[in-house]
Order: sequence, then structure tokens, then C-alpha cells
Amino acid sequence: MPHQPVIDGFKFAESGEALRGVWPIADFTRLPDVLHDASGELEYAVSGQRDARGRAALRVELRGVLRLRCQRCLELLEFPLAVDTLLTLARRQSEVDADPLDSDFERVVGGKDMAVRDLLEEELVLGVPVAPRHLRCTAGRPGSDEGGSPFEKLRGLLGDASPDGRKH
Ligand SMILES: [Zn+2]
Repeated sequence: MPHQPVIDGFKFAESGEALRGVWPIADFTRLPDVLHDASGELEYAVSGQRDARGRAALRVELRGVLRLRCQRCLELLEFPLAVDTLLTLARRQSEVDADPLDSDFERVVGGKDMAVRDLLEEELVLGVPVAPRHLRCTAGRPGSDEGGSPFEKLRGLLGDASPDGRKH
């Protein structure tokens, strides 16, 4: 049976309910294509809370290791994900739209059947770097494809074809 829990947003928040578990990364289809592969799982927790102004809110937490592709060398980059967001519930979309974009809290419309998967996916997509790169990426070393000068590459090509070329 697919694991697709649904929560009643305001009821969940006001009664301080909590839900936690693990979710396969492959289930999140909206992840950007910086993903190397979708193996593994994320630990998640959704809990009903109140925000600083006492409004009903959902705290969304996600932890795990995402297998991303370094955008420089295109090799695997293991990215430790740690998301912890408080989403203040709104009664309707117009309430969300009325909030200034730079407000320091996030809002989401609270419904009677909010798919937990969608809540998690939204935060997951926000938590993934747009252009992940290794801290010390080997593609940046001199002599590699990206670092080598065009002249060096040309010399390498000519070396094989040149009549003076000697075999070692
Ligand atoms: Zn790299």
C-alpha cells in the first residue's frame, strides 16, 4: 500500500499532533535534475505547533543524505539535508498573497486533507542547492579537461598525428 498520509491542517496543528517516519527519496518526483540518483530515504517529522503570534502552524523537518550530481565534474556529491521549517497556516490563498514576500515566516493554506508528501516535497525542493558542487572538486585541477589550456589539448592531439611523433 502506498504511504500517503493526509492531515487535517488546522485540527492537526491545534491539537498538537505529530507524524514521523521515513520516506523514499524516489517518491519525490519534483526534485530538480541535480539529483545523481534517487536511492535512499529521508527521515521526516510533521508536528502541529503555534507560530510566534499564536497562529496554527505546522513544523516540517526533513533529514537525510541526498545523492546529488556535482555541477562541475558531474560526479556524485553526497549532500546532508537538514530542513526545519515552520509553516503558518492560512484559511485561504488570499491571506497568503497578502503577506509581504520578505516576511520571515512561510505560509501555506491549511486544508482538511493536506497530503504530507506535498508538504515535504515543497520544503525538500527549497532545501536542494541549485548548482551543487564539491568543496574540492577535481574538475578544477590544472591539467584536467576544464582547467587545461586549449593549446595543451591541441598539442596532445598533434602529438599523435605528427610525423615527428615518437612512440614510447
Ligand atoms: Zn565535483
